[in-house]
Amino acid sequence: MADCIFCGIASGEIETRIVYEDEFLLAFKDLNPQAPTHILIIPKKHISSLSQAAEEDLELLGMMQLAAVKIAKDLDLKDFRLVTNCGKGAGQSVEHLHYHLLSGRRMLWPPG
Ligand code: 5GP
Ligand code: ZN
Repeated sequence: MADCIFCGIASGEIETRIVYEDEFLLAFKDLNPQAPTHILIIPKKHISSLSQAAEEDLELLGMMQLAAVKIAKDLDLKDFRLVTNCGKGAGQSVEHLHYHLLSGRRMLWPPG
């Protein structure tokens, strides 16, 4: 999708530090990390947020979660948090579905 920064990353037009890639997904380091490990997992397909995912995205959503587990294992992360901000009020600033994989510090609850 034109003007989508994460589509630009997925297509390779915008450079990033890739941690994981397959046919459907890409994972890369967050530009402004909020924890010692902060990775974003995105579908290559443009979906603007989790609330825009459809029945046909069922498998893709499962793959995103399993990719998080694989990355956590590969990086030897003991504990981690997987979160998606859905909508501006929830803190979403980039309108392309992404899961934040955060680790390496004590996580607070509730999140701010
Ligand atoms: P959101 O606020 O939508 O939940 O998360 C968007 C995340 O994308 C933020 O944590 C922000 O730091 C990250 N981000 C924004 N632009 C870029 C970029 O160009 N490259 C990378 N690697 N991360 C980005
Ligand atoms: Zn996009």
